[in-house]
Amino acid sequence: MLSNIRIVLVQTYHPGNIGASARAMKTMGLTDLVLVNPRRFPDPEASRLAAGAEDVIEAARVVDSLEAAVSDCVQVIGASARLRSMPLPHFDEPTEMAESLVDHAAGDPVALVFGRERFGLTNDEIRCCSHQVSIPANPDYGILNLSQAVQVLAYETFRAWRQRPDSGFQAARPTPDRQPTREQLGHFHEHLSRLMQTSGFITQPHARTEEQLQALFARAQPSRKELSLLRGLLSSLERHQGE
Ligand code: SAH
Repeated sequence: MLSNIRIVLVQTYHPGNIGASARAMKTMGLTDLVLVNPRRFPDPEASRLAAGAEDVIEAARVVDSLEAAVSDCVQVIGASARLRSMPLPHFDEPTEMAESLVDHAAGDPVALVFGRERFGLTNDEIRCCSHQVSIPANPDYGILNLSQAVQVLAYETFRAWRQRPDSGFQAARPTPDRQPTREQLGHFHEHLSRLMQTSGFITQPHARTEEQLQALFARAQPSRKELSLLRGLLSSLERHQGE
């Protein structure tokens, strides 16, 4: 599904931004990079800033129009710091954008489009998009560096994808250890109190101490296995009392 999500950079001026965007993509599991008329590419600066994501740079395709970059996509979302007067559906929240993008990417290619460092996307390019998204930011200075805008939206996309049951992330989560029943926990605390008295640690039932220990074990959340280990330890101490 992530392989259906394309990042398109339009006429990037600094090759370093292409490299840093590739790195941002790879950290979030995205690999499909398309460059529309980059000023300089390939370029050593792009490779340098890509760091471990040189494979993304090497596989990047260069095309000569945004149309060519996104013609096979079912959803094309233009990232823009400024609201345009274009009547395009607009996502105010990157999280909502990401959910929609991931839904569409289940069956077909989709694209996130980023503009030039100096003047973003032209109106004609916005017209190639089906939607727009803005990253909420400081109203006095809300324009992010190109590769950082790629990072934020790639992260949101990755997050939205992870939530899906078919991502593999849900299944890969380790199943939590089996927890003791309230009854088993109660037996443990009775056992502990008994031993505290018979061992002489306390001379009479002492509610405050018992409460403190109960709070301690409530925080520790011992598993069923760990609790039975503790029960074993208490029994062994009990048997050896007064020896
Ligand atoms: N000076 C340009 C912005 C260039 S920043 C302008 O005024 O439009 C380069 C690209 O990063 C933008 O075209 C956009 O795709 C993305 N970007 C930067 N800040 C963003 C933000 N707050 N929300 C969405 N995209 C943003």
